[in-house]
Amino acid sequence: MASETEKLHFLLVPLMSQGHIIPLTDFAKLLARWGVFVSIVTTPLNAVRYKDVIDHAKAQNLKIQMIPIKFPCQEAGLPEGCENLDELDSLELSWKFMRACDMLQAPLETLMEELEPKPSCIVSSNAILWTEEVCRKFKIPRYKFGTVSCFTSLCASNISQVDQESILSDSEPFLVPDIPHKIEFTKAQMPKHRSPAGKHSGGSEEHKHKPIMARDPGRATLVNSFAELEPGYLDGYRKKEGKVWCVGPVSLCNKELSERSARGNKASIDEHYCLTWLDSKKPKSVIFACFGSMCHISFPQIKEIGLGLEASNFPFIWIIRKQDYSAQVEKWLAEEGLQERVGERGLIIQGWAPQILILSHPSVGGFLTHCGWNSTLEAICAGVPMITWPMFAEQFFNEKLIVNVLGIGVRVGVERPMSSNGESEDLVRWDDVKRGIEKLMDVGSEEGRMRRKRGEELAKMASNAVEEGGSSYMSFTMLIQDVLEQLQ
Ligand code: UDP
Repeated sequence: MASETEKLHFLLVPLMSQGHIIPLTDFAKLLARWGVFVSIVTTPLNAVRYKDVIDHAKAQNLKIQMIPIKFPCQEAGLPEGCENLDELDSLELSWKFMRACDMLQAPLETLMEELEPKPSCIVSSNAILWTEEVCRKFKIPRYKFGTVSCFTSLCASNISQVDQESILSDSEPFLVPDIPHKIEFTKAQMPKHRSPAGKHSGGSEEHKHKPIMARDPGRATLVNSFAELEPGYLDGYRKKEGKVWCVGPVSLCNKELSERSARGNKASIDEHYCLTWLDSKKPKSVIFACFGSMCHISFPQIKEIGLGLEASNFPFIWIIRKQDYSAQVEKWLAEEGLQERVGERGLIIQGWAPQILILSHPSVGGFLTHCGWNSTLEAICAGVPMITWPMFAEQFFNEKLIVNVLGIGVRVGVERPMSSNGESEDLVRWDDVKRGIEKLMDVGSEEGRMRRKRGEELAKMASNAVEEGGSSYMSFTMLIQDVLEQLQ
């Protein structure tokens, strides 16, 4: 197949958010290892962020490039330079952002006319619906790249069939039909676009009729997951969707220190300092608290997190996103003297963490997470159990998978999403944070020991899946074969 694959040119079109560009770039690296030429369409500012990652891949002789297209911020009513969802001040702006993404269709079609070699197929984020039209025009196959689990996709699909009349209130639990486990949600926990009430909140007129998830599955759906993690849900999803290939966890392609420390952004801490700090701690003793690239956490909530981490008495690394590190937070940290009180026990990082470097260190014993799908999978790969704190989007689905299905997490206890301006309606108090950490780290109990053991087993299954002959590795062979068969 090696010489055959050299004919192929995959064009990847991610949604401009860290949760999509990061896994699609990992996926690109994996594809390029098969000898395939891969181009990733992005915008100028995102291309700068990922330059080191791409340069590193090129140095490994991988045929991979990023192609920047101008992002129409002004035309879509966004502030200049707002080229990634993590730059939005509020999630409300995301509709304008999606409008800007839609405007990329015409420049992408122009690019397609000029690109050499001609793309053999497009792999796009499930949110970029218009690539379907582009593929039709250029008569090439389209593959959808799913950045959520099969569990989430199947639950969401089955929930959409629940009788709306039967759900009486926002807080009353309803059962997800036709899935292998007894799983309940409330309407309030549904992502806005998937709420059983079916209504979009806010947004432009042209987007009101466009669901965020693409309906057309294309030739096949690629999922950043692995078959052994969620077999019953993969089967169920396949019955609904047709061809579904699990190709993950894609983050496992990052083996070298430099690859683990620079994903998505430059880390805000020197990786050697971070590793020395971790080396000084006992095995499985450190709590890593990080809430992804997009969650806006209010000042009162940040205070509670800091006090909870302090009160837990475990060593911790706590990431406060650049956008949340306000003057108010800075002043509080200085006046409160939290860093002085916890001393060497706590590492507070303002900005961006080298997340997979930290998670894969043997000293890390627990992950306080917002349950983003990438973060969830990265913790599974590292065998690190989680304290789950879903904040928005499909994160409540991931919490159920982590806690109720896989048995590798404990809930911090939130019942509703954070409001989109970052003010949590239900503030999680410091003693809830402390309690969650203590429960997770209690390996004296049978429950705690089982959680850790199960986590270690899943990590082993994840690494087997991506190794030669493993289930995800085999998905790559099927994908490449499928594209080869359709070459014109
Ligand atoms: N991430 C990171 N450092 C940070 C925050 C996030 O490397 O300080 C990475 C994380 O490893 C993951 C991605 O950003 O790959 C976040 O994706 P996820 O789906 O977990 O959450 P989202 O940001 O989309 O809410």
